[in-house]
Amino acid sequence: MGLTKKILIALVAGVIVGIGLSYIPTNIFTAINTYLLDPVGQIFINLIMMLVVPIVFVSIVLGTSGLGDPAKLGKIGIQTVSFFLVTTAIALAIGISLAFLLQPGQPGVFNTEAIEYEEQSAPPIMETIINIIPDNPIASMATGDMLQIIAFAIFIGIGLAFLGEKTAGIHRLFEQANELFMWLIQVIMKTAPYGAFALIASAIGDAGLRGIGPMAMYMITVILGLILHAAITYSLAIWGLGKANPIKFFKGFFPAISLGFSTSSSNATLPVSMKTAQENLGVKKEISSFVQPLGATINMDGTAIMQAVATVFIAQVYAETLGFTDIILIILTATLASIGTAGVPGVGLIMLAMVLNAVGLPVEGIGLIIGVDRILDMLRTSLNITGDAACAFIISEREQRKELKVKNA
Ligand code: ASP
Repeated sequence: MGLTKKILIALVAGVIVGIGLSYIPTNIFTAINTYLLDPVGQIFINLIMMLVVPIVFVSIVLGTSGLGDPAKLGKIGIQTVSFFLVTTAIALAIGISLAFLLQPGQPGVFNTEAIEYEEQSAPPIMETIINIIPDNPIASMATGDMLQIIAFAIFIGIGLAFLGEKTAGIHRLFEQANELFMWLIQVIMKTAPYGAFALIASAIGDAGLRGIGPMAMYMITVILGLILHAAITYSLAIWGLGKANPIKFFKGFFPAISLGFSTSSSNATLPVSMKTAQENLGVKKEISSFVQPLGATINMDGTAIMQAVATVFIAQVYAETLGFTDIILIILTATLASIGTAGVPGVGLIMLAMVLNAVGLPVEGIGLIIGVDRILDMLRTSLNITGDAACAFIISEREQRKELKVKNA
């Protein structure tokens, strides 16, 4: 049986077992979780996380030096960031429209008196921008600060391209390190069905389906937004800009999508997303290694959809009307909030406070949705990484067509 099939079975089994587990007595669930599911899941996450920083660093160095001149990198950079911004704006428009249409937050249904939520401070955006250039790249690697690692790797890559023969030895070392890490990922992925099963069963067993009750409509609105964004925005982009079959894209990228679902972390999924895009979708290495790590850090369409729906939902629950200016504010701040969201579980919800503050809605509203966020996080992370891969795929297809044209001319 192929790996994709095995992961799919693990995914379905994980959901079913997780739902079952949520109904058994808490102490029995805790024991199963502590001694079985959690260790298996965490060991699997650690196995991939162990490779995230080395792979991101090495592949961006190679990608940047492979592109040759910095101007080409700049061009791809502009295309990438434009794609990210436009798709995030569309994601937000979908989220806001659906929330207005489906009205998940009828006032009077929710008891807003009893909500408890302590706001956690999100890093100020300007600080994040200044800190993109690391003052200590070793510290960036030690803490796994993606943007800083990306910036440092780009500098090294440009240097290697510029110096050519003089640094051929280091370049070769990076190439061999890349081979090694990709091989390790392939070996680790063989354990993915077990890891994914344990992670999903544990998460769903913990969150449970009980208590969803009045939150069902909120969840349906977010999930519908995620599905529409994949089925319409990405499919149209892949078909129209990439001139490729979207179904083939989603099928080929499935192993990474399922891993995003089970880990709820764009960062943890990154090594597998890159490998899957390069090997199953034929994305050029230098494009994948630049676009996908950047996307895992700043491009979160699934998170944007959740933040848009959540904001409108909270406004509806508190019977606050949102005017046109508020909607523009939501789009602007949620774009920043989704950019600022780190690719780890649950951060999208913390960043939501920024959007609520901007439109003057009570931040405690987050307390209402926190209970059902775990499951939505799994789903939105899958979309987050799919958006990055779609961008890499489209840019790569266009580059390959351009190269073919030049060759044929
Ligand atoms: N878990 C998401 C991701 O890693 C981020 C979030 O929305 O919380 O992509």
